[in-house]
Amino acid sequence: MDTYDYIITGGGSAGCVLAHRLSADPTVRVLLLEAGGTDANLLFAWPAGFAKMTKGIGSWGWHTVPQKHLKNRVLRFTQAKVIGGGSSINAQLYTRGAAADYDDWVSKAGAQGWSYREVLPYFKRSENNQRFVNEFHAYGGPLGVSNPISPLPICEAFFQAGQEMGIPFNPDFNGAAQDGLGYYQLTQLDARRSSTAKGFLDPVRGRPNLTVKLHAQALRIVTERGRATGIDYVAGGHRTPARAGAAREVIVSSGAFGSPKLLMQSGIGPADHLRSLGIDIVADAPGVGANLQDHLDLFVIAECTGDHTYDKYNQPHHAALAGLQYLLLKNGPVASSLFETGGFWYAEPQNKDRSPDIQFHLGLGSGIEAGMARLRNAGVTLNSAYLRPRSRGTVRLASADPAAAPLIDPNYWADPHDRAMAIKGLRVAREIMGQPALRRYVQSEVLPGRTLASDDELFDYACLHAKTDHHPVGTCRIGPANDPASVVTPDLKFIGLDGLRIVDASVMPFVPSCNTNAPTIMVAEKAADLILGRGPA
Ligand SMILES: Cc1cc2nc3c(=O)[nH]c(=O)nc-3n(C[C@H](O)[C@H](O)[C@H](O)COP(=O)(O)OP(=O)(O)OC[C@H]3O[C@@H](n4cnc5c(N)ncnc54)[C@H](O)[C@@H]3O)c2cc1C
Repeated sequence: MDTYDYIITGGGSAGCVLAHRLSADPTVRVLLLEAGGTDANLLFAWPAGFAKMTKGIGSWGWHTVPQKHLKNRVLRFTQAKVIGGGSSINAQLYTRGAAADYDDWVSKAGAQGWSYREVLPYFKRSENNQRFVNEFHAYGGPLGVSNPISPLPICEAFFQAGQEMGIPFNPDFNGAAQDGLGYYQLTQLDARRSSTAKGFLDPVRGRPNLTVKLHAQALRIVTERGRATGIDYVAGGHRTPARAGAAREVIVSSGAFGSPKLLMQSGIGPADHLRSLGIDIVADAPGVGANLQDHLDLFVIAECTGDHTYDKYNQPHHAALAGLQYLLLKNGPVASSLFETGGFWYAEPQNKDRSPDIQFHLGLGSGIEAGMARLRNAGVTLNSAYLRPRSRGTVRLASADPAAAPLIDPNYWADPHDRAMAIKGLRVAREIMGQPALRRYVQSEVLPGRTLASDDELFDYACLHAKTDHHPVGTCRIGPANDPASVVTPDLKFIGLDGLRIVDASVMPFVPSCNTNAPTIMVAEKAADLILGRGPA
């Protein structure tokens, strides 16, 4: 059996950061296990490759269970299975949320040490920002962050439409305030995706104390006398599991679904559930797989008055020209993440005391993501998502077999407040699309379609078309050790076993009011300090 100091299960957004930071100490041996393969396919590197990413590339192919409050609809739920994890397949939007999000982690969930003031230095530590350097931003870190390279004129008209409704332009959603419409900053550098695999892992692959195994799936956490001591895993098509020992810690970084799945496969989770599947109990931990939160998207799709978006690049000859432009000039449609414009505003004006409660993503085309309608002529999409859902769901095992997909139940709209807010958000999105500034570009709304106006009609529309924003969190949440709902303490140590930490999106007690890649990277940056025993940044 090979023994390492730290074994990291999952080379995703968090896992690659940990591999980089922990192996910086040459005396420490680190093993990174990733179930997926390489990111060598250029679709991962080219920003517009995102258009393929929810359609099967580099992902597990999971779905939700029927959603009771969405007329039992089953939603596709893309989750990464490739080195870099979500950061290799996501839309590259770089957002951090509101200061109040992290302050709530402390005041409402007991996550001491995770206030905005305390986490801001970790956001900055990662950053290689190409535009900003100030109280909120830094350059020189491993993660490329930059502004869109070739935005389209319709984006500017979108900002004007917002201003016609009193929504200001905001040049930096990660600065002093989130409010407004604007360009997102993107995890890109030199017109290529900056995943954690590219930014954090690749530069340190040669370290002799770091071993990276791809196509290596952790099956079970090995425990002895109340301590995690290693991992059983299968690698490279072998059927017989191998075992690796962890002299110091096992670090579970398998994502908001993968982490509770691995824990439960190992007998660590809600005892009743594990017993019902014939799994021996190692630790009864009711919080494992509970508290699942996600952002649910509703969207407006409109037909354009001409070729104002990227839809025409679905035709092979246009795509070939765009490819050439990108190769020669590093700009044009291929350099676009297709969702680089958007912003944050209020479905509920009384939330102005806190921070925006809806987020918009302007999709520069139709049918960009799996399951979204593609129009015959050029179209444009405006997503809106309610940011602070009250509904809570679960991740459970379908069977004791590690190869089985988990039972994912986000339980969307179990709380009627979420439904009401989502429908209000959709109305704001429609209103933006109907402003005079967009009339040059937008001809008519196709979905939901002007005939649908009442809340009930929009609810029916949502049941047919709502989609995940891919922001699952909370399934191994941070909290005080004496709260049965907590899975890890604020230093990310598992409550109930030694030598085990969880580091990924699953530890967030509440979903931040934004996309979740940058917050996950921040969690891993802070975790590295906690693991190495370094003081606060
Ligand atoms: C399609 C999509 C679009 C998104 N768009 C954005 C966006 O534009 N901006 C943004 O900020 N966020 C976005 N997100 C969300 C963001 O990418 C995620 O929140 C983030 O990547 C989560 O990081 P993680 O480390 O928790 O999990 P992941 O990055 O998912 O990493 C988990 C890794 O563990 C591996 N793994 C799982 N189980 C095992 C096992 N048993 N053994 C070994 N390896 C295992 C997986 O293969 C995966 O690589 C998007 C996500 C998706 C899926």
